Amino acid sequence: NIRCVNICKSYGGLRVIENLNLDINDHEFVVFLGPSGCGKSTMLRMIAGLEEISDGTVSIGDRDVTHLPPGERGVAMVFQSYALYPHMSVRDNIAFGLRRQKVPEAEIDRRLAQVTALLGLEPYLDRKPKNLSGGQQQRVAMARAMIKTPKLFLFDEPLSNLDAKLREKLRTEIRRIHLDLKTTTIFVTHDQLEAMTIADRIVLMRAGAIEQQGTPSEIFDRPATRFVADFIGSPT
Ligand code: ATP
Ligand code: MG
Repeated sequence: NIRCVNICKSYGGLRVIENLNLDINDHEFVVFLGPSGCGKSTMLRMIAGLEEISDGTVSIGDRDVTHLPPGERGVAMVFQSYALYPHMSVRDNIAFGLRRQKVPEAEIDRRLAQVTALLGLEPYLDRKPKNLSGGQQQRVAMARAMIKTPKLFLFDEPLSNLDAKLREKLRTEIRRIHLDLKTTTIFVTHDQLEAMTIADRIVLMRAGAIEQQGTPSEIFDRPATRFVADFIGSPT
């Protein structure tokens, strides 16, 4: 499980996360939902170790990871802009992280075959990223994260650059991979429909704090505040 205790974050003098407490269970699919600027990415980046925490602690399993570098947290993150290496083939892009960790080539080949099959990337392994569609590039970015076999998978608006149809398709794939690999997943979006369809639990944020959390139907049927009702589009 993931445990965030009294997380605070300031940039300069500005508080952007205020005393946030959150527990996430193993194998849970949690969505951070909320308007632009409410602190979703900041929370995710602090959990990943990409951003320093001003105050509070984060633990993953029974380890306090508050001061551990990203590489030692057993997490993998997929971003909105996938930033693939343009001069490398798809195969080398996916394998890059494992090669750097000096994982034996035979083991890399085995894991590469596994993730490329899951994501349907076999036909593209020898291409360069620029010769792929946006959705295919996003799949490569997912494969690159998955091949690290993370315990915790973090997605920051990974689908927002894609058209509606492809978004739906990849959403289903992300959900399936989450179940297949038995990972824990945190998925950030500001799209309430996306959140409703993919989440076990929605954590709805507002101005650096949690406004309400619960299953999609709990949030939709029983919004705790006017803000939640407006944001989710519940009938009032
Ligand atoms: P969006 O949906 O637009 O991605 P978000 O919920 O992910 O928004 P964050 O990126 O977490 O929002 O930002 C939260 C707040 O922190 C915002 O007010 C933002 O301006 C501020 N912020 C984020 N990064 C920095 C930074 N490096 N320096 C100063 N302020 C920052
Ligand atoms: Mg963001």
